[in-house]
Amino acid sequence: MNTKDFHFLAKVSEILSEKTDTSGLQESLEKSLNEYIEFEKLSIYIFDDVTNTLRYCNECWSIIDDSSEIYNIYESIREHDFVINSKAYKLPPVMGDVKLSIKSLYMPLINDGKIFGIIELILGKDTILDMEFLFLMKIFAAQTALKIQNIVLNEQSKINVDFHDSMKNIAKIIETQYELNYIVPLIGEMLDRFISDHLIYVFLYKDGEFKLVWPKACNDERIYDTLKQLTPETEYLLTNDDKIGAFPLTSEGEIIGCIAARSTLDKLSKRDISYLEQLTRQSAITINRANTYAKVLQYATLDALTGLNNRRQFEVRLKQEIATTKRQKNPLCAMMIDIDFFKKVNDTYGHASGDSVLRTVASIIKEHLRESDIPSRYGGEEFAVLLPYTHIEEAQIVGERLRKAVEAAPIPIDKKNINVTISMGLAEFTPEESGEELFKRADTALYEAKESGRNRVCINKNA
Ligand code: GH3
Ligand code: MG
Ligand code: MG
Repeated sequence: MNTKDFHFLAKVSEILSEKTDTSGLQESLEKSLNEYIEFEKLSIYIFDDVTNTLRYCNECWSIIDDSSEIYNIYESIREHDFVINSKAYKLPPVMGDVKLSIKSLYMPLINDGKIFGIIELILGKDTILDMEFLFLMKIFAAQTALKIQNIVLNEQSKINVDFHDSMKNIAKIIETQYELNYIVPLIGEMLDRFISDHLIYVFLYKDGEFKLVWPKACNDERIYDTLKQLTPETEYLLTNDDKIGAFPLTSEGEIIGCIAARSTLDKLSKRDISYLEQLTRQSAITINRANTYAKVLQYATLDALTGLNNRRQFEVRLKQEIATTKRQKNPLCAMMIDIDFFKKVNDTYGHASGDSVLRTVASIIKEHLRESDIPSRYGGEEFAVLLPYTHIEEAQIVGERLRKAVEAAPIPIDKKNINVTISMGLAEFTPEESGEELFKRADTALYEAKESGRNRVCINKNA
């Protein structure tokens, strides 16, 4: 070997030692080889034995079409050192003074004596090269093979870790939650984060049809067509082109929903399917537990997280209070509260911390109300309060006091204190309306409070 060869190999070593993934790897190697000889194109392909396809060694590992000539070359190179101008060769044991006219050159990537990929070097025009060059390329291929094997293993183990995290997180959601409207979007988000090359849709089966619960929209008719073919016995269904997969969520032999995945790149691989099957099973368990929990809680009156009245009890108390108010002609006010930017709390500190914020806000609400007031957890991070014997002017004073108390309260999270604010809407009952209409007006006022900047109390006057 001469200085030029050493220089080239040193450069390659440097590039490989810097790389931790496949992004830009090909380009960098191409550049260093370009300093050595003139050529048209350098490509690296890896064989994926899960999908039985060759993949392009780039960030997204794109699949090479079955009809590509590269599959034949990959087959013919197996027992050889090179494929030169479409013919397979073995290197002679000693270096002779042979020169070859080369237009295209293929070298196997080998690990543990097994071929797992191939490097393609297209020279573009016939180029006279000697044996020394081929030996150099053999070293180049060996170095590259080692690095790529490393990258592939790393990526695979990262996927495995992420997968187990996703499984654990899905199982954990349920600890304090039983509202499907809250749980299912979380599951959707988690799957989506884990399965990045696919679009994930989560459906719940209600009243004879699949209703999309995550994300907000699905315009793909083929997904809906696939859903129609599901039965409780279906393990999973794939469309003919393997681009869409539907994985039914079942409970006690009945379909309760479905997770659908649509690939944005190539088809769903066996590996994707296996992950999705397991994640679907875990999601079904979580949803089932939530359903059972919700059934048990149907008979409860208090919200498990905050200890306030639950939504069901709120409806009962509202009916009672409206009846009393009408009979006795007492004033009555409705208060709707919503925590500001609560999603950000969850996203920054996690859902367990979010729950702890909910508990704190609930206890501040309770603390600032009278014995006769009726606070409830209306849903998620929303609270509804009934204020009997209260005119709107007093309600406004109570509301302002409450708003300031929440704003000022330090909430301990992760060994530090955070603050949250609330927005509030108020409305006073008028005899011609229903309880539902009253709270609808309070909700309109809450919306106004949000729109006009949050952390404020708004009153609905158009009774
Ligand atoms: P805005 O100021 O407009 O109200 O913003 P926001 O982020 O509070 O509003 P949004 O309605 O978009 O988000 C409410 C979030 O509350 C979304 C949901 O993940 C979260 N959430 C709902 N219920 C619970 C719960 O029981 N626990 C926790 N930790 N989060 C919940
Ligand atoms: Mg809200
Ligand atoms: Mg909110």
